[in-house]
Amino acid sequence: MKKVMFISGAGLSAESGIRTFRDHDGLWEQYDVMRVCSVQGWEDDRELVTRFYNARRKDLADKKPNAAHYAIAELERKFPGQIWNLTQNVDDLLEKAGCRDVVHLHGTLTDLRCEECGHVFDIGYAEQNGHDACPMCESALVRHNVVMFGEAAPEYRRIYEALADTDLFVAIGTSGQVIDIASLAKEYEYSVLINPKREEHVTSFGSFEKYIDEYFEHFIQKNATAAAEEMLGLVGRHLG
Ligand SMILES: [Zn+2]
Repeated sequence: MKKVMFISGAGLSAESGIRTFRDHDGLWEQYDVMRVCSVQGWEDDRELVTRFYNARRKDLADKKPNAAHYAIAELERKFPGQIWNLTQNVDDLLEKAGCRDVVHLHGTLTDLRCEECGHVFDIGYAEQNGHDACPMCESALVRHNVVMFGEAAPEYRRIYEALADTDLFVAIGTSGQVIDIASLAKEYEYSVLINPKREEHVTSFGSFEKYIDEYFEHFIQKNATAAAEEMLGLVGRHLG
């Protein structure tokens, strides 16, 4: 049975009005990104970081999925068991579009996590108010469920599980700066990249040799929503 691995990034949700720290040049509203998205920042000022994630959750409440989220959800419905739906996004727009099995490589905005027992629990768009205790172990040490700079991303192992299980790779709206999608594409006979602009592939030695799209068989140089129809057709034909 043919299977596909999707890895989506900020570009998938950008047209739904979700912004990321990359759009903000190091400053996110009044927040210094390194203070609110790093382990060091969290250790220095938990209250500030909690306020930041409360604001992100509130922002997310009225955001709606776009055509690209719906396209992935449609494929998931049509081809059950043939889709690995991996995303770097911490929003819930794939779920809102109807996806049931999303792997959030960098965590989820709408959950909190217990620092004592590791239990992850849904908070929706509500504020973490300092009185939230873990429903499993009742510890008051709870935090946002988003992976920070300087800590491990345990879900990354799912990328390699998916790689071993799939024969098509589709990357959507990711600049390839966090996850090396160019190297992943090399592992596939057929791969598709959807991104509105060409991004340089910088090697581990820091040199630029090729554009990331050159590692993919098929490059759709468009925004996610503009590419949704073509992506549906391509992936549908491959899986069907
Ligand atoms: Zn707990």
